[in-house]
Amino acid sequence: MNLTVLGSQGAIPKLGKYSTSLLLNISNSNILIDCCEGVQHQLRKYKIKLSKIDIILISHAHGDHYFGLIGLISTVSLLKRDKKLIVFCPTSVLKIIQSHIKHSKMRLNYDLELKSLNNQSEKIIFEDFNFIITAFPLKHSVYTNGFRIEEKKKRRKLLLNKAIEFKIDKVYFNKLTKSENVLNQDGEEIDYLKVTTEGPKSKSFAYCSDTAYFDKLADYIKCVDLLYCETTFLEKDKDKALSTLHSTTTDAANLANKGAVKQLLIGHFSSRYDDYSNFLKEVKVIFDNVILSEEGKKIQV
Ligand SMILES: [Zn+2]
Ligand SMILES: [Zn+2]
Repeated sequence: MNLTVLGSQGAIPKLGKYSTSLLLNISNSNILIDCCEGVQHQLRKYKIKLSKIDIILISHAHGDHYFGLIGLISTVSLLKRDKKLIVFCPTSVLKIIQSHIKHSKMRLNYDLELKSLNNQSEKIIFEDFNFIITAFPLKHSVYTNGFRIEEKKKRRKLLLNKAIEFKIDKVYFNKLTKSENVLNQDGEEIDYLKVTTEGPKSKSFAYCSDTAYFDKLADYIKCVDLLYCETTFLEKDKDKALSTLHSTTTDAANLANKGAVKQLLIGHFSSRYDDYSNFLKEVKVIFDNVILSEEGKKIQV
């Protein structure tokens, strides 16, 4: 699993800096998380093919999180996409997209599956053989979701020498890695635990933007390998965070601590700041393993 930061800023983009968007690559699927204005340029800049995006998740109806969506939906059609694109978004955003498609008489040559989010509690919204996406409610000025994306439990690893020693035919190797017992060439049942070891650990990522801190949030992101949490404001501007329902550095650090996550990525910085080193300093007082969002940064989870 790896994550590419496409935009690091809050509502107002700057020259060379974009509002919040992330691309998560998981088990050969590409999930675009929020879709900032200019996202197509960013994807091209970091050599991510637009046609490779499988799923788009939109957290809420504020423009800094979806202004790039209509352009992207249109461009991939012009580029003759033929595979399905799934977009999960609040009902309000879904209506805006449908309205644009209708009034511009846009003809899409691929299957655009728009899925409306209106859950008021934690809910699994997507599942395939490899991973699960869960949406959970955030606390913001409009209806907003966070997302948790988890790899499914990986298969066990075969110990080939042991399998040969126990006289197991190779047609059964697949079953063993799926934690199933098999019969060997002498008709004896062989416990999969004897001929396999634990497979690679499944990884998880959670995304929280935009939100004020609330206690229950830590339950939604518990123990993930990487947590993205917005830090629109430094602690000295806490009053602004409270009035606009955003998080400060201390909020994000407390969340990472309480949720016992492995690593924290912060972003969605207010345009009033130019020096981001204070963001790191303030978080590190409470939670040490923190990284700063920067356009183009790639993080191996
Ligand atoms: Zn925002
Ligand atoms: Zn917002």
